[in-house]
Amino acid sequence: MSSPFGKGLARLCGVAAGQTAAELRRRVRLALRETPTVELRLDWLKNDKERHAFLRWLKAQRFAGTQFIATCRRRVGGGELTGDAGTELFWLMQAREAGCAWCDLEVETLRELPGKTVHGYAVPRKVLLSMHDFRKTPPFPRRFVVPASGSTNAFKAAAMARSIGDSARILRLARNSRGIVAIAMGEIGLPARVLALREGSALAYAPVASATAPGQIPLPDMKNLYRAHELTRATCVYGVIGDPIGHSLSPLLHNTGYIAAKKDAVLLPFLVENLKDFLRNLTEFGVRGFAVTLPYKERILAHLDHVEPLAKKIGAVNTVTVGGNGKLSGSNTDYLGVLRALEPKMKFRGSRVVIFGAGGSARAAALALKLAGAHVFICARRPEAARQLARAVDGEAIQRSALRTQKFDALLNATPIGMYPHEKVSPLAANELNCSLVMDLIYRPMRTKLLGVAASRGIACVSGVDMFLAQGFAQWERWMGSKAPESPMRNAVLRALKNEENTRW
Ligand code: NAP
Repeated sequence: MSSPFGKGLARLCGVAAGQTAAELRRRVRLALRETPTVELRLDWLKNDKERHAFLRWLKAQRFAGTQFIATCRRRVGGGELTGDAGTELFWLMQAREAGCAWCDLEVETLRELPGKTVHGYAVPRKVLLSMHDFRKTPPFPRRFVVPASGSTNAFKAAAMARSIGDSARILRLARNSRGIVAIAMGEIGLPARVLALREGSALAYAPVASATAPGQIPLPDMKNLYRAHELTRATCVYGVIGDPIGHSLSPLLHNTGYIAAKKDAVLLPFLVENLKDFLRNLTEFGVRGFAVTLPYKERILAHLDHVEPLAKKIGAVNTVTVGGNGKLSGSNTDYLGVLRALEPKMKFRGSRVVIFGAGGSARAAALALKLAGAHVFICARRPEAARQLARAVDGEAIQRSALRTQKFDALLNATPIGMYPHEKVSPLAANELNCSLVMDLIYRPMRTKLLGVAASRGIACVSGVDMFLAQGFAQWERWMGSKAPESPMRNAVLRALKNEENTRW
C-alpha cells in the first residue's frame, strides 16, 4: 500500500524528541536505524538555542533517502512550544532550510493565518495538517479524501480512544479514506495503532525511546515485534484481554513465536474496561482468538458458545478461539501449564501435593493435579474456601499448622504473596516447607523469596514462569494447529523478565 509518505517501512514514523540538541541528535540516529521517516519534535527542545543548534546539525548532515517531518506544536495544540502561530511558523521555516520535506501543522495554527492557508510561508513543501482531540474520539465523516489541489498533502486525525468501539471508528476512518493518518491515542487505542497501517492509514507513529505515554509502542517493537508495516488483511489477528494489560508478556511470547515459525499473524494487547465493548468489535479488528487474563477469566464464560468440559469444571477460561461463523469456544491452558511445569521434576501418580491459596489458579492447579493422579491438599486463609475447593477435587482441606507437621512431595504457592513490588515477602516460613519440591505460581520476580527459602533448604524449585510459558505454548498450538517454537519464545520472555528485574532492583 502506498501513501504520500511512501511504501512499506517509510509509513512507520519514528518520533524523535529530546530536551537538548544532543539528546535529539541521538534519538534521530536511533530512529534512522529503524525507519527512513522521522518526526522531529522541535517543540520539545527546551529553548531556542537548542533548536538553532539542532537544526544547524541537521543541515550539515545531508541525510540521504530519509524524510523528516518537522513538528513545533504549540501548547494550544497539545505541544510544548510557548509562543504564537508566528513563532511556530518561524521554526518550521528554519526546518525547511535544514532539509525537512514535511511539516506537521495543527488546524489551530492554520485557522489563525490570513486566508487560512500557509501559502506565502516558506515552511517545508509538504504539509500534514493535524487535528488532535486529547479527550475523546469525536464524530468523524464516514470518508475523508485530501483534496489534490490544496496546500495540504495529508491530514492527521489523532483522537483519544475511550473504548474499543472508539478505536474501531478510527480504524474505519483509515479504511475508508485517502491520505489520512488515523491515530487512536491512549492505552485502549494500542491495537488500532498497530493495525492502522493495514487499514490504510498513511502513517503510524512510534516513539524512538521508551514509550512516553500509555498506548505507545517503542519503534523497535512496532517494527520488529508487531511488524505494523507488514500486516495485511490476510494477517491473522489475535489478542490478549485484561485490565490492566500493560505488563502482559503474551504479546512478546506469541509474536516471537509467529516470527520464528514464519506465521502471518500478530497478537495485540487489548485493555478491556468493558467486556461487551470488546466482544461487539471483534470482527472489526478481525480477531481470530484471544487470551484472557484478570479480571475476565471467569466472566468470559457467560459470553461463550462452547466451553471445554475441563474449563467448565475449573470455572475459568484463558483461551478463546473465534470460529469462522463468529462462534466463541473457550478452553483453559493454565491447567496444562501447571502440569507441564512440574512434569520434569516429579511423578504425579500417588504424590501428596499441597496448594497454598484457593483462588482461580489454585483451582486450575488442584484439578490438573487431581486428574494426573495426585492427592491434593488445600491450605487457605479462609477455611471455607479451602474446604470448597478440596471438595471439588476430592482432596483434603488442611490447617496452616499442618504444614509444619506433615510431609508432602510438592507445595504450590497460588497466592499473590511475594509478587513485585512486595518481593521481599515469603508467604510461608522455612519450617512450613516440608516437601521435596516447591513451585511458586508467581513469575514477577522469577525467583521469589519463597523459592529462595526453599532452595536454601535444598528443596527443588519451579518458577511460575515455567507455567506461564507452558500455558502460552499450549495456546499458541491451539490457534496455529502446529507445535510452538518453544526455544525462541522462552528466550524472549526470560530476557524480558531479566531486563525488568535488572532495571527494578
Ligand atoms: P485469586 O483468584 O485472586 O486467588 C488468590 C488466592 O490467594 C486466594 O485464595 C486468596 O485468598 C489468597 N490470598 C491473597 N492474599 C493473601 C494473603 N495475604 N494471605 C493468604 N492468602 C491470600 O488469584 P489467582 O488468579 O489464583 O492468582 C494467584 C497467583 O498466581 C498470582 O500471583 C498470579 O500472578 C499467579 N498466576 C500465575 C500464573 C502463571 O502462568 N504462572 C497464572 C495464573 C496466576 P482470599 O480468597 O481469602 O482473598
